Parts: sequence; structure tokens; C-alpha cells
Amino acid sequence: MGEMKGFVREVYTSIQGEGIELGRRQTFIRFSGCNLSCNYCDTPKARKTEGPFIYQGKVYQNPVEVEFLSGMIDAAEIAITGGEPLLQIDFLEILCKTLKEKNLNIYLDTNATLPDDLSKIIDYVDTVCLDFKVPTAAGKPGLWDKHKACLEIAVKKMSFVKMVINENLLPRELETVCSIISEIDESVPLVIQPVFGCNIPDILDIQKKALDFLRDVRVIPQVHKYLNLQ
Ligand code: SF4
Repeated sequence: MGEMKGFVREVYTSIQGEGIELGRRQTFIRFSGCNLSCNYCDTPKARKTEGPFIYQGKVYQNPVEVEFLSGMIDAAEIAITGGEPLLQIDFLEILCKTLKEKNLNIYLDTNATLPDDLSKIIDYVDTVCLDFKVPTAAGKPGLWDKHKACLEIAVKKMSFVKMVINENLLPRELETVCSIISEIDESVPLVIQPVFGCNIPDILDIQKKALDFLRDVRVIPQVHKYLNLQ
């Protein structure tokens, strides 16, 4: 079945610094390659597929086999992140199956633009973070139809929507995100994440407006960066 090897950028164990699983110990498998180029991207190196990857300060060659990666795991939960992991769907599917056979929890971070691929692996995943891209922060046109299609698939598992914003957030962007979620399930948490270092004076008003649509709206910055962790 498919390609047994994949391209990753780094493997490391840290705390989850974002979203509803904040603070949990996870081994991060950061996939290479991305189909977007957001203005605030903090993993620009992960957008490329070429080059080796780093694990515990050592350099390893790509592509890498699933079994080799499995030996690097040092936590009960695996955060699959990127880049955009769904771009390597065949490899990801085999990786997820292998991790599930080892009774590990799988947390998937995705930019929520590849619903067909998400549907292929959703049964293996325990938690999905769907990163809805807001044009004023990401610097790209809205991808709302794709985001909606992804949430419709992810909602059968523990899932939440992350929305990275800066001080230029428009009311209609907030309303669009909230409407998409509330039409599917108003109890899906929305995590509002300010761009790192960005001061948003009306953040409590933004949260209140979102709570007109949704039941669970949280404001959470990227905590790992405050702790100087990877
Ligand atoms: S989707 Fe994520 S990895 Fe890709 S460019 Fe945007 S922030 Fe960077």
C-alpha cells in the first residue's frame, strides 16, 4: 500500500503549546511541504520537502521509514504537524496505522484545505486542530469552502478550530468563521490565537462576539514560545 517513506523536517518531544491540549507532553512529527504560504508562518523551513531532518540534535536523511520514526517516540501522544501533513497522505495513513497499533494517541494539526485526504485518515486520529486561515492575518484569500468541508469530516472526532489573528481582524472574518462552526456544531471550540507578540487591545470584545455564535471560545497564545521551548 502506497509509499512507505515520507519527508519530515524535525522530530522532537515538547509540550503542546497551542489549543485545547495546551501543556500536554507530545512527540512532534513535523512533516515537510505545504500548499500555503501564510504571512505569519513560523515554520518556513517546513514548507520545503528537500533536505535532511533533525532529531535530538542529529541530522538524518529523508525520506524516512515509518518504523524508524516510531523508534523516536517519547510520549503517549503524537502531534502530527507541518508544513501540511495531509500532502503526504499515503505515508501519513501508514504512520497513523502503525501508531495506533502501539496504542498511541494521535493529534493532527492541519491547515484544513484538503478534505478528501482528511477523510482517509480521520478514523485513526483522536484530536484534530483545524487552522482556519483569516485573510487579514494569513495574507491570502479565504479558503472557507475547504475549511467547512474539513470541519464536517473532523467533527466526528474531538476537534477544534484555531484562528490566528492580528490587530487587523475584520468583523466579517470573525462572523464567517463563527457561522461555519455554528452551522456544523456550535459546541466545537474556537481557539483565538494572536500572532506571537501581537497586542490586540479588543481581544475580549472579539471573544464576546464569537460567544454570540458559539459555546466555547478561548483566547490562547502560543505558550511554548514564552517558555523558550521548541
Ligand atoms: S499552513 Fe502552516 S506551515 Fe503552511 S504556510 Fe501556513 S502557517 Fe506555514
